[in-house]
Order: sequence, then structure tokens, then C-alpha cells
Amino acid sequence: TVRTRFAPSPTGYLHIGGARTALFSWAYARRHQGVFILRIEDTDVARSTPEAVQAILDGMQWLGLNHDEGPFYQMQRMDRYKDVIQQMLAAGTAYYCYTSKEELDALRAEQEARKEKPRYDGRWRPAPGKTLPTPPEGVQPVVRFCNPTEGSVAWDDLVKGRIEISNAELDDFIIARADGTPTYNFCVVVDDWDMGITQVIRGDDHVNNTPRQINVLKALGATVPQYAHLSMILGSDGTKLSKRHGAVSVMQYDDDGYLPEAVINYLARLGWSHGDDEVFSREQFVEWFDLDHITPSAAQFNTEKLNWLNAHYIKQADNTRLAGEVASRLARRGVDPEAGPALESVVALYKDRASNLNELADAAELFCVDVHPAEEVVAQHLTEAARAALRSLAARLAGAAWEKPALNQAIKDTMAEHGLKMPQVAIPLRVAVLGVPQTPSIDAVLEVLGQARVLARLNRYL
Ligand code: GLU
Repeated sequence: TVRTRFAPSPTGYLHIGGARTALFSWAYARRHQGVFILRIEDTDVARSTPEAVQAILDGMQWLGLNHDEGPFYQMQRMDRYKDVIQQMLAAGTAYYCYTSKEELDALRAEQEARKEKPRYDGRWRPAPGKTLPTPPEGVQPVVRFCNPTEGSVAWDDLVKGRIEISNAELDDFIIARADGTPTYNFCVVVDDWDMGITQVIRGDDHVNNTPRQINVLKALGATVPQYAHLSMILGSDGTKLSKRHGAVSVMQYDDDGYLPEAVINYLARLGWSHGDDEVFSREQFVEWFDLDHITPSAAQFNTEKLNWLNAHYIKQADNTRLAGEVASRLARRGVDPEAGPALESVVALYKDRASNLNELADAAELFCVDVHPAEEVVAQHLTEAARAALRSLAARLAGAAWEKPALNQAIKDTMAEHGLKMPQVAIPLRVAVLGVPQTPSIDAVLEVLGQARVLARLNRYL
């Protein structure tokens, strides 16, 4: 079975890049009826926070990227890593190194003077016939991995193609610090091994770790997974994605009024394609997803496209769901969502023209609160002539059957009586009842707003 994982470090929120990595790992597992594992890489104790863990869990949940196993926390697996280190020491695939910081600095200075790449020289690495120095008193050693000295390490990256690194490039990296704590690269290896990961799908900022990780896996006799390194996401101007571009928390998209399916659809197209298809459901994505159609080049973030998708999904969304979203947004603004007409009917009026849920809530707010248009707006639209027309309209509306045909008739009769054109009645009417000159079709607005509210709002100007 396919087993994939998403392994975020909880040093910040789940951002767009992380969310895309999670989506691809999740989709690959789902596509192959596999298992998706969530692993929290919290060994950087100074930078990891419980809030960040929660933000990651919230973001995953909001996006609907449910995991089958985990979350596993690396800090809870320390004993296991230490056991494996002991096994490696016993097997001779790792060794104690007592080189002090001063010695390492001196070594680096010599290498730099010779224009060589700084690397550990293996002075504590055991070898047949080699006499090791005597361990200095009172020094806690680090543990280093015996990296192969010959040949090379290679893998067929599922995104980048074949990558081959000469072992001569890799030195014996530290797998446990002097205080005994395992290092990051080592924990990842033990986890991927223990968790039976078959495809490691991650950002290509980890591509340099891969040869080391593969060598350790081989030394452990583990099956080496396949690797897929995803390219970066760039901002719309081609520079590294930053906050300015939308590299913000996934939950910020919720706050900003995006539907999760719009974000999922958008992320799916960020570096992956299926012909010309732009709009597809989560289910469709899972059915189509493969690693062959991931673009090896960096993907560019495009807010307009995301907004377009969001507008599309808002149009498609069920009114009851949109009403719920709008209600909670109104409540957060201190507006009573029950104060107006049923929100289902309000969102039905506006869903075709909203590009996010906050716009929908802005519109709905006008139905729930007593609107007070700015003085200039009142002065401009509610002239004496307009008020006279609204006065006779109000009289008609007071006796009208509250349905679009009758409401339209009342407006037409008022136009005829006062010799006015449609906008000369409809615009002042909009300003009087909703506080704004532009709204969806006025008969629909009146119908939804309801007779009592319409008359009360009109009366304030008559
Ligand atoms: N914890 C790493 C990160 O957040 C991911 C490591 C991996 O996927 O192997 O960048």
C-alpha cells in the first residue's frame, strides 16, 4: 500500500506552500487507496509552539485533508531515535566523535585556505588498521553517521528526474548531538522508515537532505521510499512568496472569505495540471492526480485566479451553507444575523455577484441593520421630487401583495403618476431601503427585505 506523510515543523502557521505539499501527499494517498500520515516535526523546541501545532491541525481540517494515522509528534519518539542510534553504534554504521568546536574551526580554516569545501575529515571514524585518538576526559561526544566513502547515491525523483550525488561530496554528518538529542535529518529517516512511507512528497528545499537520508536508510537496511520534490511557489511578481503575495496562514483565507474548495482547487493547479481543466472538484482531483504532471519549474501565485475560482464556488454553493457562513461573519461583526430576513434568501440574491464570503456578508448586513447612508448620498438621491415619488410608492406598497409582480406594478404605477423613468424611482428606493444606489433587481430586494422593513425604512424619509 501507498503510505504518504505530511511532516510540518510547527514553527508557524500552515501557509500556502505547506498546504499544497499536504494536498499533494494527501491526494496521492487517496488516489491509490493508501494511507496518509500526519507527523509533527517539533524537535526544534525553541521555535515550536502548541499554537502552531493547533494552527496546522485547524488548517488541515478546514481544507478537509484528513489523515489516517497520527498526528505523530517527534518529541514523543525520542527514545526510539536513541535506540536506533545505539543500534547503529553497535553495528558500526555510526561512531562517537570527540572533535571539539575549536578543532572543527581550525579544520575549516585550513580547508578554506586550501579553497576546499569545509567538511569533517573523519578523524574519529573507525577503520581497519586505524588507531583512533584517546577520547578526551569529560567531553561528551556527538554521534556521526559513517557515510559511504565510495560511489554515489542516486534516486529517480518523481518530479525532478534522476539526481545523483557523489558520496565524496557528503561528510559524516552528526546524527546525535553531545547532549544525546538526535538531529533533524536523522529523526526524519527513522520516522519515514518506521511509518513505512512509500513516497516522500515534500518541498524541494529538502532536496539536499535526501542523499544523506537515503544513505542512512540503506545503512539501516530499510527500503528507500520514492521521493517527489515540489518546486517553490513564487509570488505573482516572480519573487519568493511572501505575506504580501498570500503566503499567509491558510486560516487567513477563511477569514478573507474563501471557500475551502476554492483554495483546494487553486492549490491543485499550482504546479500540477490535467490538460486544460481549471475547475474541478476534490473528488475529480483525487481521481486525476499523479506525480507525472507536476511541473518541475516554480509555480506562480495568482490571486485573481483564486478569486475567480472562489466566485465560481460561491455561485455553486448551497444557500443554507452560505447563509451559515454569512451568519457567523455577521455575528463576529456584532450584527445580529436574525435581525433581518432569512439569510438564505439574501444570499440567493447576491451569490452570483460576490467574489468572497465577506462581500456576501457586507450585502447581508444591509438587510439586518438599520442602514444610514452618508449625508451626501441622501442629498444626491433623496431629492424632494424623489421623496414625493417614494411617498406615493409607500402608499401603494402598504396595500400590495408581497410578491414580485405586485411590487413591480406598484413601482410602474408610481413612475406613471410622477412621469419618472425606472432609475428615477428605483435608485432613490434602493438608497432609502438599503442605503446604497446599486443592488440586485429592486423587486427582488423588496420581496426579500419584507413589507414591514421596507415601509419602516421608507418612512424615515417621507
Ligand atoms: N518538517 C519539514 C518542513 O516543515 C518537512 C520535512 C520532510 O517533509 O521531510 O519543512
